[in-house]
Amino acid sequence: MKNRKLLMIPGPVEFTPDVMRAMGMPTTSHVAENFIEVFGQSIEDLRKVFLSPAGQPFIVAGSGTLAMDMAAANLVEPGDKALVVNTGYFSDRFAKILERYGAAVTHVHAHEVGDAPSLAEVEAALQGVRPKLMTITHVDTSTGIATDVKALAALGRQYNAFVVVDGVCATAGEEMRQDEWGIDLALTASQKAIGVPPGLALVVAGPRSIDVSRKRNAPVGNYYADWNEWLPIMQAYEARKPSYFGTPAVNLVWALGVSLREILAEGMDLRFARHRKLSGAFKAGLAALGLRQVPKRPELLATTLSAIYYPRGVNKTLVKYIDEAGVMVAGGLHPAIKDQYFRVGHMGAVGPADILAAIGAIETGLSRAGHRFERGSGVAAAQEALV
Ligand code: PMP
Repeated sequence: MKNRKLLMIPGPVEFTPDVMRAMGMPTTSHVAENFIEVFGQSIEDLRKVFLSPAGQPFIVAGSGTLAMDMAAANLVEPGDKALVVNTGYFSDRFAKILERYGAAVTHVHAHEVGDAPSLAEVEAALQGVRPKLMTITHVDTSTGIATDVKALAALGRQYNAFVVVDGVCATAGEEMRQDEWGIDLALTASQKAIGVPPGLALVVAGPRSIDVSRKRNAPVGNYYADWNEWLPIMQAYEARKPSYFGTPAVNLVWALGVSLREILAEGMDLRFARHRKLSGAFKAGLAALGLRQVPKRPELLATTLSAIYYPRGVNKTLVKYIDEAGVMVAGGLHPAIKDQYFRVGHMGAVGPADILAAIGAIETGLSRAGHRFERGSGVAAAQEALV
């Protein structure tokens, strides 16, 4: 028997064999030719994955939180006003980071957990606050809620705010067209739909973001995140020249190079469609099992993960039972409902067999938890949707 479980948490996720092979290559110098070439190519490819021909990518060792930190450190000056479209735990985190750099933050909250603020509410806040910057969490990993980034970004631009998108649980899975949608900065991390083990912070800054950072009065309050240090490095690698500020994560960048090529070989439109289809099949399985999801309305459902309430009489022991059935899923994260739900990631290299395995393991777990339901109904519904 394969002595490993299927990893279906909302990141890190399962990675392709070629990505994992790149992680195992003998590490070379960060100024060796075969590293410079992959780094340069990755910078070019990242623009294509973010659909941002005009963007400036930054590939830096760190997690997604560093990418958020980098956005705030370079764009915010003390006293700037910022608006956070708040859909959960990671929107709260962005607010804290912005405040750390001196921003005055206004939140537009949803009325209840499982909902997102309406466009009208966001517009009213933009009108009232006139923020310099607005943040949107594309998919809030704590609730499985996807925001309407296209419409929100258009609103932000209308009120002349810099539009910043946290795509950590979305980019390369959920549809996002950075330049076409008027997004000034989008960020993610390697371990989710980008398909690389944890350890890389990925930022694509649009021309307005680079411009505003150049015109700052106050110095960037974070040495490691400062674009003044990183921009020349990214430009050098893209020109296939060696450069150094902080040692790049050599094997992770190699793995990123492989994954970005795989993503672009699939094609962004087909990749978005695959995520929609697999998510739809998984959610059809959940519905057939009578399981309720955290997002209140269908248009709020993310395609990269599902957040699912435990049915009556079942508690978090279900996560353990699912694990023992061979699939790792995650418990709750949003503090208000933490013990009432669990989360399943389905992004990146995920395929139809993973969806069926996950629904099957959930059925096994529910049976062990003593829940009464029609066995096989979830798997059948997911199969039906996959045909
Ligand atoms: N934003 C979102 C939407 C996330 O899902 C996460 C991680 N789950 C983060 C930010 C933070 O990323 P990291 O854990 O890599 O620091």
